[in-house]
Amino acid sequence: MDVFEAIRESGITARQAAERCGIKINRNGMAVCPFHKDKNPSMKIDSRYYCFGCGEKGDAIDFVARFYGLGKKEAAVQIASDFGIIFEEKRGRKPPPERKRRLSPEQRFERAEKKCFRVLSDYLCCLREWKEKYAPDTAEEEWNPLFCEALEKKDYIEYLLDILLYAPLSERVELVAGYGEEALKIERRLEQLTAGTEGGIGKDNGENGESGESGTGRADITAGSMV
Ligand SMILES: [Zn+2]
Repeated sequence: MDVFEAIRESGITARQAAERCGIKINRNGMAVCPFHKDKNPSMKIDSRYYCFGCGEKGDAIDFVARFYGLGKKEAAVQIASDFGIIFEEKRGRKPPPERKRRLSPEQRFERAEKKCFRVLSDYLCCLREWKEKYAPDTAEEEWNPLFCEALEKKDYIEYLLDILLYAPLSERVELVAGYGEEALKIERRLEQLTAGTEGGIGKDNGENGESGESGTGRADITAGSMV
């Protein structure tokens, strides 16, 4: 129901709207017309209004629109808000409910798996880069934490990616379910790194994801655990 229908259905009269505007209406249902220089009440107001002086007429919405110099829609919205009338914005057709909620478990897993794979690949790229870039030049030099991380994690991430690529479904499901949260953490961290908060890695890392997917990461990844 749009705002016009809602007001029509609510039965708000021109009289109620006018009173809300501060117009005094006498016992005969007459008021001093606010739309022309009126000395005596020449406006009849009930469900609609009509001025015998200047000929203005209309319903509640017309009154408020004219009184405040608003468009009809704005006036209607104001009345709705003044009188607590609930309505729905009509902006074309309602968008269909998000498709991802209707995905089958298999599709959800596929998405989660894809995402997990993408994140781990990005991460592996970083690890490889860090291993080169932050390798200490001298034996005495203190190791860069990113270099340490590369040493520590690179093989493991390669192993996980191998599973995603080659292992049978059951193992992949297990991995995605078990590693999904961790993958999300990695993704966030890589995003922060590429955003430059810690600096130090190339811009190409972590930017090759499909756009529009990042916001749904949690749902996609954790969907794996529902398989
Ligand atoms: Zn008038």
